[in-house]
Parts: sequence; structure tokens; C-alpha cells
Amino acid sequence: MAYITGSACFYGREFIVDESVLVPRPETEHLVDEAVAFLRGLGTAGRVLDVGTGSGAIACTIAAETNAVVDATDVSPEAVALAARNAERLAIGGRCRFLCGDLAAPVKGERYDVVVANLPYVPTADLPAGPDSTSFEPRVALDGGPDGLTVYRALLRGIADHVTAKAMVLLEAAPPTIERLIELTQNSLRNSTVTIGNDYAGLARYVKGTLK
Ligand code: GLN
Repeated sequence: MAYITGSACFYGREFIVDESVLVPRPETEHLVDEAVAFLRGLGTAGRVLDVGTGSGAIACTIAAETNAVVDATDVSPEAVALAARNAERLAIGGRCRFLCGDLAAPVKGERYDVVVANLPYVPTADLPAGPDSTSFEPRVALDGGPDGLTVYRALLRGIADHVTAKAMVLLEAAPPTIERLIELTQNSLRNSTVTIGNDYAGLARYVKGTLK
């Protein structure tokens, strides 16, 4: 439906979507809630990195809800262009940068108070064959490799270089893969506390790492 109407609702705002991006999902709103609460407690505007931004739903919403300065990346040039359009429509383009490249490669040397990501996390064997609503979405936005965590492993390898001393890291993933993602996050951010967050259905949906 979102591809037919060209729009989807996320966190009470309308986003333009097309077949180059995943349709924003309600469960991703929990990551925004966490990021917004954390940023409001910071005392400064804060810097945010949204990796694999797609439509820009997470990046734009955080920018709209706070005073944060947001960088967002995506490997797809079409997604980057669409996310920038969404930021302009929401009049927060001045505090958001949308950069094309793999994971955090476009922001080498930059550190953030919040790193948030909804990367492709569906284990390859679990991808629906279609017809199914997700079979219309870009495979590159869904396919997380054999165990669903291939792309998160790549991000986490370099994550320590992109966080400030008291940062928060928020990663959405498939419920059966969350325990393993906790271990990976803990291994990459040794001085952090890592907990699980549930989605609206009560399923384990995201990992929250807080640096000490
Ligand atoms: N939540 C999506 C689904 O289950 C997957 C999103 C993603 O891979 N980031 O279809």
C-alpha cells in the first residue's frame, strides 16, 4: 500500500517512500523513543548517526523531536536522495546530512552521542518468497546473511571509533538473533551495558548499548 500511495506514516509524520527503500515499521519507533529520551538528558544538542537510513524515517524523526545534529548514511544513492527529500519536507534539512556509502565509511573520523541502525537483518533463508508485502521491498534492505547478523558484524567491527565516551548505540534486529547481537555489541564496546528492548508485540526487537 505504501508503494502505491507513495507515503508511509512513522512516529506521527508522513514520509515519502518508493521501491528503493524499506517501508518504515512501527517497531522502529522504539529506537526513536530511546534516542530522543537519551538526547533530551544530554544537556547539549548531541550528534546522531543513523546507519542505513533508507527513507530517512529514523534520522528525520530524531532531528524533528530534538535539537540534535544528524548524519545518516545509506549504500543506495536512491535512498540517500529520498531521505534528503523527506528532511526538506519536514523542514529539518539544515540539521541533517545524508551521505552515500557503506555503513559508517562516509563518516570516517566522526564520533556521535547516539548511533542508531535498522540494518538488513532477516536471515537469508527466512526471506519471504512472495507474493508477500516484504517481497516488494529491496532485498538489500532486508537480507542479513545466513544468520541475519552479517551486516551488523561489519558495522560493529568499527563502531568503537564512532562513539563518544558516554554514547548510546541502538540496533534493531530479528527477535531470534537478539541474544547473539548482544554478545557482538558487548565484544565491540567493552565498556558498555547492553540490554534488550521489546517491540509493540512484546518481542525482543532491539539492542541498547550504553557506554560507561
Ligand atoms: N522488520 C522487517 C521485517 O521483518 C525487517 C527489517 C530489516 O531487515 N531491517 O520484514
